[in-house]
Amino acid sequence: MSGLLIENACVAPVAGPEVSSGYVLVDGDRIAAVGPMSEVPDAPGATRVDGSGCLATPGLVNTHHHLYQWASQGLAQDATLFEWLVALYPVWAAMDAEVVHGAATAGLGHLALSGCTTSSDHHYLFPRGRGDLLAAEIEAARAVGLRFHPSRGSMDRGRSRGGLPPDEVVEPLEAILDATAEAVDAYHDPSFSSKLRVAVAPCSPFSVSSDLMTGAAELARSKGVRLHTHLAETLDEEELCLKQTGVRPVEYMEELGWLGDDVWVAHAVHLNDADIGRFAATGTGTAHCPSSNGRLGAGVARVSEMLRRGANVGLGVDGSASAELTGLAGEMRQALLFQRAVNGPTALTARQALELATLGGARNLGRERELGTLEPGKLADIALWRVDGPFAAAVNDPVCALVLASAQPPLALLLVGGETVVADDELRTVPQDVAGEAGVRAGRRLRRLARERGADLA
Ligand SMILES: [Zn+2]
Repeated sequence: MSGLLIENACVAPVAGPEVSSGYVLVDGDRIAAVGPMSEVPDAPGATRVDGSGCLATPGLVNTHHHLYQWASQGLAQDATLFEWLVALYPVWAAMDAEVVHGAATAGLGHLALSGCTTSSDHHYLFPRGRGDLLAAEIEAARAVGLRFHPSRGSMDRGRSRGGLPPDEVVEPLEAILDATAEAVDAYHDPSFSSKLRVAVAPCSPFSVSSDLMTGAAELARSKGVRLHTHLAETLDEEELCLKQTGVRPVEYMEELGWLGDDVWVAHAVHLNDADIGRFAATGTGTAHCPSSNGRLGAGVARVSEMLRRGANVGLGVDGSASAELTGLAGEMRQALLFQRAVNGPTALTARQALELATLGGARNLGRERELGTLEPGKLADIALWRVDGPFAAAVNDPVCALVLASAQPPLALLLVGGETVVADDELRTVPQDVAGEAGVRAGRRLRRLARERGADLA
């Protein structure tokens, strides 16, 4: 056979027992076998990778991002969510396809270097006449080599209709639904090995009309694609929702048909006991974004309790404008520390944090049969972490060295469908310096375009 055999590694498959000295055999884009070295197969013709001193895990799955925000990092640093949004909408209103392509190239390259093999993106601003923004990020994802789940986002409720965004950045409802249907038809690939799936994602209850929410849900269900939005991120949102609709955010979404096993929401910080019960009963997933929630002072999501009651949780880095330079591996630690700081040292284990970042993410994206664990038949999306460095080697548990270390261990190898994306801690698809520079240029371009339109970048 051709293929690839990782040998002598500690293997944490997430499903099934860990093996301290084991192998992972890859055939084509799938995992063919996983087990202890005592049972390693012959695999003649396979490329052999010595995993000594390394930990093999499933590739990490990022379930919430706004890649364009790579170009607007470091602004409005001490603001609440609503203050931050109001400060940044005029900056984002200046973006074009060139900004999005550069930002997505850098953002996805950065994610790959933190062990991420699949990323979603939530793009919800489409200023007129600036090129095809969705195509720009899809092209960037193809070049970087990650599995990509872009969602066609939208906003139709500007300030004049009681929404938060200025009217200039929202779109008319009909145009949104048409463009969203076109995006699904043009790009969505439902196949097992798919590297590109599209979701439908109105931005948030405070920037979207109830008609768009229901129209989007109907559209997604008629096309068999998933639904995503922001929900219950801050207490300001809860207060505004109560004032405008008379019900709390989760109840409002339930009324609109937006709870279900084809829905995952970002944040879900402010859930009460009944809300958690609704998420568990309906199979609604959550993208937990601890760094962003901390940066914006939004609060701490009740992740331990959600897991205990059977609600699915994955991780997200969120947009880089509210989580500057946040890698996905570090979010495992951030999630663990948040839960323990609030609920004590047994609130979330290192293994549970790894599961959030892998299988939990795969479930959010509806891909638990294909991704999220190292099991025969699943796609060969694998991260091989080097945990034998001069300092990390002192930690006697490799999973602990990965999850609890404040500095992420080096990535010896990152495979997406058996293909190398990162080797020896360096991006091998787009050259790493080119990806970084693309992000720098996107930032410069966005700031220039925004200043030309009179935006305040102080
Ligand atoms: Zn977000």
